[in-house]
Amino acid sequence: MATYKQPCIHCGEMIERDSRLCSKCGSRSPFGYRCPNCLKAITRGSPACSGCGRPLETTCFHCGQPTFVGVDKCDACGKSLMIRCENKRCGEPQFFEISKCVVCGKDIKKAQKQIEYLIDQNQQ
Ligand SMILES: [Zn+2]
Ligand SMILES: [Zn+2]
Ligand SMILES: [Zn+2]
Ligand SMILES: [Zn+2]
Repeated sequence: MATYKQPCIHCGEMIERDSRLCSKCGSRSPFGYRCPNCLKAITRGSPACSGCGRPLETTCFHCGQPTFVGVDKCDACGKSLMIRCENKRCGEPQFFEISKCVVCGKDIKKAQKQIEYLIDQNQQ
């Protein structure tokens, strides 16, 4: 079986087209941006997701700057916007605004609390 490789849009590494994860930068959407909510393909610059209608820009909880939701890292400060699912058997990285894991459906409460705390700190 032949394998086809395609460059990761984030780091340029050539990876197999059926990969769900870039082996170099760890991005979960190596070939296109995805809505963190409904996983529909999204484009940078659109105001809202065509699948679920969520806005495609949010405020980074590290630096308070606006950032695009289709990437794992903040546009402004480069810090990770992902939190880990609290279900030990799942552990999938989830976008910080997600309150329920999109993979296993578990509520993500502890990490959400930490983020609320960080946002409070930023606003002072
Ligand atoms: Zn990559
Ligand atoms: Zn969506
Ligand atoms: Zn930031
Ligand atoms: Zn999960």
